[in-house]
Amino acid sequence: MSFESLNLPHELLSAVKDQGYSKPSPIQEKAIPVVLSGKDLMAAAQTGTGKTAGFTLPLLANLMKGERAKANQVRVLILTPTRELAAQIHESVMNYGKNLPLRSTVVFGGVKINPQMLVLRQGVDILVATPGRLLDLYQQNAVRFKQLEVLVLDEADRMLDMGFIHDIKRILSVLPAKRQNLLFSATFSKDIRKLAKGLVNNPVEVSVSPRNTTAENIEQYIYDVNKSQKSIVLSTLIKDNNWQQVLVFVKTKHGANRLTKQLLARNISAAAIHGNKSQGARTRALAEFKVGQIKVLVATDIAARGIDIDQLPYVVNFDLPHVSEDYVHRIGRTGRAGNEGKSISLVCNEEFKLLKDIEKLTQQIISRKIYSGFEPLTPLPPSGLDIRVIKPKKTKKSKISHMDGQGSGLRISSHKKQGSL
Ligand code: ADP
Ligand code: MG
Repeated sequence: MSFESLNLPHELLSAVKDQGYSKPSPIQEKAIPVVLSGKDLMAAAQTGTGKTAGFTLPLLANLMKGERAKANQVRVLILTPTRELAAQIHESVMNYGKNLPLRSTVVFGGVKINPQMLVLRQGVDILVATPGRLLDLYQQNAVRFKQLEVLVLDEADRMLDMGFIHDIKRILSVLPAKRQNLLFSATFSKDIRKLAKGLVNNPVEVSVSPRNTTAENIEQYIYDVNKSQKSIVLSTLIKDNNWQQVLVFVKTKHGANRLTKQLLARNISAAAIHGNKSQGARTRALAEFKVGQIKVLVATDIAARGIDIDQLPYVVNFDLPHVSEDYVHRIGRTGRAGNEGKSISLVCNEEFKLLKDIEKLTQQIISRKIYSGFEPLTPLPPSGLDIRVIKPKKTKKSKISHMDGQGSGLRISSHKKQGSL
């Protein structure tokens, strides 16, 4: 399928061409016609599958019709959990919409509110916002929703994880009832479906990959290491392999700072991003990382959410995440949009339980390596995943396991399947 066959106006087609996209991604193929039709949508797709263009392109097309935004009004509201993600979506909106006479802006906390109020005063066709700052602006009468046509919740599962449910409910209560709703999420948890009930009307549901599986173009492996040697192993890996751009995940803000210092001390350019860093410092670190001025970006899960860096070659799990689903999100940062990527986890004996949880969730055993010279004192026990038991079951009881025809052999247990609304 081509972008041309999706009925998008030429202004958008030429912008898409300038981005270098040759054809729509699977989620774009499915989502774009639904959004164009004005229907509500619930879409599940892994990170890096092109969800942003999946909703932005058809929304821009729809906005070309209808009345432009009046003072303080907003026609499309895109809510997203983090500042970085908000900035990134707005960048996409500007790129895709560069040939259209539409106004857009982005608002998030951690920076001055006054300039945001000034921009909103003129009215914007598209507003990208994080929930907290949007509510502040609403309370100060800087934004109005009388003209609101569409609400987009991007990374909705993340918003719930990050505790935005009350903010979201408050925002919903001040929006006009008649509107189009689009809900995007990497996965549809029970909580997401609960939220969706009070949000979308007769939504079209699209989904392009099974839940909790990791993208195929990502090579994953583990180094079995001593906890105390993780930092030196990471530095050695970076130097020995001459890695130029590595995103490293750590558990805590403190751990991020400590590791960054250690890398810098070994002459490896690095910066940390986490919630205690100022917005300026986070934006700067990300920008420097993107252009290759710093090699290593050390991030906590929350700070890294939704960050899109083109062709990120390496992701390192310095600590395994406590929530197994975060593993899937983390490694989704590499191998984006069809590029090859590597995910390397440094795992110590104490993390064995976390490793087992991840392997159970993704239904695959991650291959292990030992870094010569850094042999673990207490090696990891064997995983013994019961994947081999589950697989034959799939063929024998195909009626039960093919719940929605999307590779159910990868599913973990029936209570985790995607229900229908
Ligand atoms: P998601 O929101 O699903 O995580 P994004 O919308 O951030 O994914 O897109 C991921 C990357 O893929 C971005 O760098 C984007 O520019 C790129 N991309 C999006 N659509 C296409 C396409 N049709 N062809 C090639 N690359 C694309
Ligand atoms: Mg996204």
